[in-house]
Amino acid sequence: MIPVNEPLLEGNERTYLNECIESGWISSDGVFVERFERAMAAYVGRKHAIAVANGSAALDVTAAALNLGPDDEVIIPTHTIISCASAIVRAGARLRLVDSNADTWNMDVAKIEAAITERTRAVMAVHTFGLPVDLKPVLDLAKKYGLAVIEDAAQAIGLTYEGKQCGSFGDISCFSFYANKHITTGEGGMILCDDDALAARARSLRNLCFKPERRFVHEELGWNYRMSSLQAAVGLAQFENLDEHVARKRELGRRYEALLHDVRGLELAPVACSYAENIYWVFGVMLDDRLPIGADEARAILADAGVSARPFFWPMHEQPVFRKQGLFDGESYPVAERMGRRGFYLPSGLALTEAQQDHVVAAVRNMMGEYL
Ligand SMILES: *Cc1c(COP(=O)(O)O)cnc(C)c1O
Repeated sequence: MIPVNEPLLEGNERTYLNECIESGWISSDGVFVERFERAMAAYVGRKHAIAVANGSAALDVTAAALNLGPDDEVIIPTHTIISCASAIVRAGARLRLVDSNADTWNMDVAKIEAAITERTRAVMAVHTFGLPVDLKPVLDLAKKYGLAVIEDAAQAIGLTYEGKQCGSFGDISCFSFYANKHITTGEGGMILCDDDALAARARSLRNLCFKPERRFVHEELGWNYRMSSLQAAVGLAQFENLDEHVARKRELGRRYEALLHDVRGLELAPVACSYAENIYWVFGVMLDDRLPIGADEARAILADAGVSARPFFWPMHEQPVFRKQGLFDGESYPVAERMGRRGFYLPSGLALTEAQQDHVVAAVRNMMGEYL
């Protein structure tokens, strides 16, 4: 079975891990957390970086650091991972959803303004599947209405918007280092921002809101969302190879594009749009409506051919957990609904070989040939 993702661990990972083990510093107090934070902050061009246990934790801390609460509404795309929604819901704030753009598979920024109310406090820009959200209109609206911008750049490490790093635009930005991201720590995440007070709050929330002056007395509840030095050691080694990882992803994506662009009934993500070049975090495809099968059937057929594929996100307004709470009643976001049913992504890991990719392409062509 060709896995949907396999990471590449070919740099200093082992050397740095050995340093941790030999020194005995394996918790978050080891030297690698700060080194990794500094490297990321410099790369993205931000003043502060706060490493956390994972990308979802970064979003939880972000919502708490912004003091979101029951009086607030936050605008997010409906087509995203549950972590974006759960961070807002757990903070007690209300979600307002926006549909996707059919061309870029990212939030349709033309629909944001209609979702803004008196109570809107923030808008979350989530870069998905290789292209960024069109950020300029988001930043303009945020300025006009006084909203905070949360940037979820989990899939966009090394991706640029109009030449500037993703993660450098939000008032606060989140990254993930899960095994399928451009650089991985196995599990891990990071928060980046420029504001000193916001950074201090995020640091405190990550560390149980311990007070430096009186350790076990707490004014507020936080989490133990610290990253360990072991994770950061892997992260720093991965970071050193980030440029190669990005180049490799683009090479994989462009090769899929070249080998699949003529397949009828299969829509591929654009190689570029007006403001960015696809980084091909994953190689996503959408089945044409003329096809009698959807993404689930297609993934089953591909699995029989030894190819593991993953579905796109399932929209937030169709999540049972929220429907049970009576949320999003009667709301409909047709582009995201279609993406959830007809979209999936092919094996796209950094360790994918050309032979494996050829096998995937043959399996996809075979499947599509059956139906067109
Ligand atoms: C991966 C991802 C996350 C969550 O990160 P974890 O480290 O898996 O918790 C959040 N947002 C997006 C867009 C992601 O792709």
